[in-house]
Amino acid sequence: MDCLFCKIIAGEIPSQKVYEDQYMYAFKDINPQAPVHVLVIPKQHIPSLDGINEQNCGDIAMILKKIPEIAADLGLKNGYRLISNCGDDACQSVKHLHFHIIGGTLLSERMA
Ligand code: 5GP
Ligand code: ZN
Repeated sequence: MDCLFCKIIAGEIPSQKVYEDQYMYAFKDINPQAPVHVLVIPKQHIPSLDGINEQNCGDIAMILKKIPEIAADLGLKNGYRLISNCGDDACQSVKHLHFHIIGGTLLSERMA
């Protein structure tokens, strides 16, 4: 499958790893929009939030359970924002489900 993030998981494209286990891979965004900008992705290919189903929702639960720990390890003591762009109106550019952890500064009150 020609998927950028599957290639990053496979190590075919280099990335700056932040965390990894059997369910997920977390790495620094190549174009950070804040002092801390990390992407957390499921190891199995799921195109977007719309692809979450009975079979894969356990892995997503593990990701959401781990994200506060990853954020703490990144030093985000004062809060952070978690974003998942889903589909064209949200400008999702990579069609492999990912969660942006953004922080390290006071973020805009606006989300759109
Ligand atoms: P989206 O716009 O789909 O929500 O987010 C995709 C994110 O992936 C963007 O923030 C973009 O900077 C990041 N990205 C795209 N290509 C690469 C890459 O090759 N390596 C890394 N580390 N991040 C990437
Ligand atoms: Zn993929």
